[in-house]
Amino acid sequence: MKSQMFTAATAVGLLFISMTGPIAAKTPPPIIDMHVHAQSVASYGPPGQKFCTPHTEFKPFDPGVARSWPEEWLAQNLQPDCEQWVLASASDEALMAETLEVMERRNIIGVVGGAPDTVAKWKAAAPQRVVAARAFNLGRDRDVSPQQLADEFAQGAFEVLGEVTNQYAGYAPNAPEFEPYWALAEEKDFPVGIHIGTMPPGSAYLFGGAPRISLADPFLLEDVLVRHPRLRVYMMHAGYPHADKTIAMLRQYHQLYVEIGVLAVTMPRAEFHAFLERLVRAGMGKRIMFGSDQMIWPGIIEATIEAVETADIAKTQKRDIFYNNAARFLRFDEETIARHHDR
Ligand SMILES: [Zn+2]
Repeated sequence: MKSQMFTAATAVGLLFISMTGPIAAKTPPPIIDMHVHAQSVASYGPPGQKFCTPHTEFKPFDPGVARSWPEEWLAQNLQPDCEQWVLASASDEALMAETLEVMERRNIIGVVGGAPDTVAKWKAAAPQRVVAARAFNLGRDRDVSPQQLADEFAQGAFEVLGEVTNQYAGYAPNAPEFEPYWALAEEKDFPVGIHIGTMPPGSAYLFGGAPRISLADPFLLEDVLVRHPRLRVYMMHAGYPHADKTIAMLRQYHQLYVEIGVLAVTMPRAEFHAFLERLVRAGMGKRIMFGSDQMIWPGIIEATIEAVETADIAKTQKRDIFYNNAARFLRFDEETIARHHDR
């Protein structure tokens, strides 16, 4: 009796597998996320912080009240006034595990940036999913010489230099201090992702006084592209909100790409769609790449996917943004592309 039951159950199981197997095993179309961070969950202060998906309104702040902007911002993040939000991971281990879980389930290949030792951990945990990127900030990394970066690159520690967050240290994309690094990237032929665009509100008050939103000007990248015509660079955050200047730069410099990290969740959805659709309408559909800017909130990734999926652009244009453009920019070979598509 017992063995009969076993047989019956096995038969049902086999039937189930044969009926649902091909569908259940189907790999979702691949996505390349050009903007994932590998960092500590303590990066933005105390635990329990939430991130609106999306932010819907930017409230007025009275600087005459007792609360400082950093206190106000933290309070807003602990108790956000928005309909949907996602919670930060509880530990560094959970952050990596939860991010990689989303990447695995949604078939995402991520350009994961951070300190070399942290990125190495992520790469070891998911070698097929992680493209190692090296975070760089002219303020924090002033002791990291171009020679050191060249050595790290030669040792295979990173494939992409990014996120370059010089804007947070008060440096423009064309700052003379960064010129040797641009020259190195051009010489060694590694791509660079540089933050040019929006920052958290009041960043100058939050992060030591140096950040300036006036440095988020896509035109400040122009001298760099003229001096280094072989440079492979993408503007992280797509120069938002300067759509005019981003389009002007993309029209003028066809080697330039942009990615849409954080935009889908930091602005009202209608504005995100309008911005993305404007770039596509301007003919830039082959130069826009998907990016989430996942920091310590893994839920940002799927919120961003959903935002792109619901944009009023063609299905083929969405596939370009989700995968094809980044695969071209990163020069993935046919074999790699086939593997990502489970072919
Ligand atoms: Zn950024």
